[in-house]
Order: sequence, then structure tokens, then C-alpha cells
Amino acid sequence: MICPLCERECPDARMQRHHLQTRRKDRFDIELICSDCHRCVHAFFTIKELRDDTLELHTIDGLRANEPFARALDYIKSVPPHRRVRTVQRCSARRRSRRRR
Ligand SMILES: [Zn+2]
Ligand SMILES: [Zn+2]
Repeated sequence: MICPLCERECPDARMQRHHLQTRRKDRFDIELICSDCHRCVHAFFTIKELRDDTLELHTIDGLRANEPFARALDYIKSVPPHRRVRTVQRCSARRRSRRRR
């Protein structure tokens, strides 16, 4: 199955359900994306950001249009789907530098 985010052909077992959601609870879609992309989405964005209508992160196109996330996707694309992507480290490192706690 082809992941709509990284466009790699991934084994079905690697595909996970991600909720594309807005603040309106009655409006959400479920999209199957690969586990690498899924981890990366949640490492990059908080649930609050994902539900923020103004950020347009509730569509696949919106996620792909987000520039820092698109750069992470470029990295995922460069890794064969059977190899484990080290996105967690990369994505969370970026997030730590973006907002210090
Ligand atoms: Zn993917
Ligand atoms: Zn998700």
C-alpha cells in the first residue's frame, strides 16, 4: 500500500490509522499512513496544533505543505520502507529546539 505522505510502497502491516481532525468533532477523516510518517506527525505536532483549523493540518495536503514537516518527509522518502527510520530522534530534536520547556 502506498503511503499518501511519503509515497513509499509500504507493507500493509506498517500502515496505521491517523485521525485528520478539526476542532469540530463531527468532522474528521481517517487516513492510513505508514508508521514512520505517523510517528513523525505526532512528534512534530501536538494534538492541539493538528486540530487547529488555521494550520490546515487536518488534510494530507496540508501536512505535506507544512515546510519543516515536508523536510522530514524528504528524509523518510530517502529510506527504504523495510528499514527503520530514525525519525523519532530527528523530529523530536527539532521540536525541542523549537519550543523550550
Ligand atoms: Zn509514509
Ligand atoms: Zn495519528
